[in-house]
Amino acid sequence: MQAANSIDTSDRTAGGGRIQRSNSLVEDVYEAIFAQLMALKIAPGSRITVDSLVKEFNVSHTPIREALGRLEGEGLVLKTHLIGYRAAPQITRRRFDELYEMRLLLEPHAAAKAAAAMDEAKLNILLDAAGVMSRREGKDDRLRYSNFARQDAIFHDKIMEFSQNELIRQTLSHQHTHFHIFRLMYHARVTEEALDEHEAILAAFGAADPDAAQKAMRVHIEHSRDRLLPAFD
Ligand SMILES: [Zn+2]
Repeated sequence: MQAANSIDTSDRTAGGGRIQRSNSLVEDVYEAIFAQLMALKIAPGSRITVDSLVKEFNVSHTPIREALGRLEGEGLVLKTHLIGYRAAPQITRRRFDELYEMRLLLEPHAAAKAAAAMDEAKLNILLDAAGVMSRREGKDDRLRYSNFARQDAIFHDKIMEFSQNELIRQTLSHQHTHFHIFRLMYHARVTEEALDEHEAILAAFGAADPDAAQKAMRVHIEHSRDRLLPAFD
């Protein structure tokens, strides 16, 4: 029993745990494709062929298809019957404006509500989510950027959760906003400045101050919009 439990499942040559191993393989493949999509190495709108990914990652079709299916669920990959996969196209300027208009209507309000309902446990969850983003230890910029996009999505989603309007939360989450906006521009500035703005939001939550939270969230979303707008020039 003890010996079996001590097998390191991250070691793919270890015996047992076949499902574990194939799960982590799908996870690895998923992360690799996700990072390429976020860093625009796979260009928006371009075709993605399973065969070329099979060659690139030296794995079978199955984990590639599973990873692509998951990315499809996240709105980053589109699948067309009989044609195959392609990267989701870049969002249009019009959709970008619509997204930010919606975010500005919903998120500052939700941040105020979350601040009003703030307690230590919730604050710790938000600090945790923000802390993960600020860790700058990753060697691979591309991977760090894609991780930031995902963590930013989690951070904002948690605030929506704590604002206790599930409909608003779902409405925002279904847009996969963060994945789309972070694909507009691959630049460190996009993440560095956002971290400072998150600090301001966290300070308002720490003080359980709805007005300050509303303002800080508004500033963050407006600045985020202004940072990304040059992508349409
Ligand atoms: Zn953010």
